[in-house]
Amino acid sequence: MDSKGSVDLFEEKVERYIGAIDAFEDYNIITGFDREQVRQRAREIRSKLETGSAGPLAGMVVAVKDVLCERGKKVTCSSETLRNFESVYTATSVQRLLDKDALLIARTNMDEFAMGSSTENSIFGPAKNPVNPEYVTGGSSGGSAAAVAADLCDVALGSDTGGSIRQPAAYCGVVGLKPSYGRVSRYGLVAFASSFDCVGPFAKTVEDAAMILQHLAGYDPMDQSSSQAPVPDYLSEIRSKKHLKIGIPGEYFAEGLDPEIRFAVEEQLRALEKEGHTLHPITLPHTNYAIATYYILATAEASSNLARYDGIRYGHRADADEMERRLKEGIDDRPTADIYSAGDSPLIRLYKQSRTEGFGDEVKRRILLGTYVLSKGYYDAYYGKAQRVRRLIQNDFSNAFREVDVIASPTAPTTAFKIGEKTQMKPMEMYLNDIYTISANLAGICGISVPLGTHSNGLPMGIQFQAASMHETDLLHAAKASESLGRS
Ligand code: GLN
Repeated sequence: MDSKGSVDLFEEKVERYIGAIDAFEDYNIITGFDREQVRQRAREIRSKLETGSAGPLAGMVVAVKDVLCERGKKVTCSSETLRNFESVYTATSVQRLLDKDALLIARTNMDEFAMGSSTENSIFGPAKNPVNPEYVTGGSSGGSAAAVAADLCDVALGSDTGGSIRQPAAYCGVVGLKPSYGRVSRYGLVAFASSFDCVGPFAKTVEDAAMILQHLAGYDPMDQSSSQAPVPDYLSEIRSKKHLKIGIPGEYFAEGLDPEIRFAVEEQLRALEKEGHTLHPITLPHTNYAIATYYILATAEASSNLARYDGIRYGHRADADEMERRLKEGIDDRPTADIYSAGDSPLIRLYKQSRTEGFGDEVKRRILLGTYVLSKGYYDAYYGKAQRVRRLIQNDFSNAFREVDVIASPTAPTTAFKIGEKTQMKPMEMYLNDIYTISANLAGICGISVPLGTHSNGLPMGIQFQAASMHETDLLHAAKASESLGRS
């Protein structure tokens, strides 16, 4: 952007987005937004554009999931425990975009601590799908997906631990990319399950996703699991055509898949074949174990990561004086009073009360499960075994990627469901939603969801491509080829 006209267009666009954020206020998409700060930053970027000193992302307007730290801003993770937490530093992923002069417009709603598939587990209320507000956005990065879909920004950042970028992208009809584990720094991403967590972009086009990945990717000394692998020039690579070998895993087209989604994906694959790509049936034999394995390992890691919210160093602190007064007077009639045991010291009571008040039900469920699978008597039976199954799932993918470049499948077995439909005593049904996305996080590979037209119920559908670790170029090639067929 260098001409006066495009500089004006930038400010117009920012104003349009500000207006749209207001218009969508009751959709619970945004958790933090300061219009004056945004305007101020837009003016700074404008003057850089005018003097020709702007970075390559000047003009890009980005929303950020409320799980990535931004210095001086509230980072709530949609949790009571962090409702008033202000970060003192900025996540590497966010900083890299800032350094290139992107404009950060707002922070987005999510499932508490990124646990969930619907963005209903949030102190800000359920995020509503811009396509139809009676439906969920998917999750846990539902706010980011919806922000792009509702045109509140150009692109958004999310995090994906088991599908939280790809599934909401499919539910809202946008592009969502989960990079390989280690490709993008996790520094400043509030940890859920550290061996699974990935930061990645939502965008309106595959090229925009590629461009953001370009700036996010690369080694960061602040993240020990960050990869030193060189970062290819994604944009120029995907501008040339490549014929891909596309694997089709039988296990992903089995029971539970909505027939219309199945048909749409199969039709898309036939169209890709006509374009010169080749289709290959493959098998990922341990697919059926992926959800169980994930919910053992991810909850184990979560129980340990969330131990830091004790109300002392971090997080909501219960009113200790009030607690002790009630106890002394024997008037503790609160529903949480039975969490105390006879021998608890006042400090232990404070931890218990603070965590009871600070965490929502889903987070508590995960902490309990994770603590259980790590406990002395069950460690080998659950955690140890799940680690071994994780290896088998990784091997399934290594074997497949010896034969094919990418693996194609639906992103999710259904379209978005109604708000409230699965929250009432149906956590298992919610978990099953991640069946096609969760394995990529167990294996550390990359994946992308690309819009695939509209279901007869009026909601968006998505197609997913997965590629081997650090093979984002193949992933983007496939995504672009699919997008070019014009069914988005
Ligand atoms: N839905 C999955 C879960 O609840 C994945 C969440 C995520 O990717 N952050 O754990």
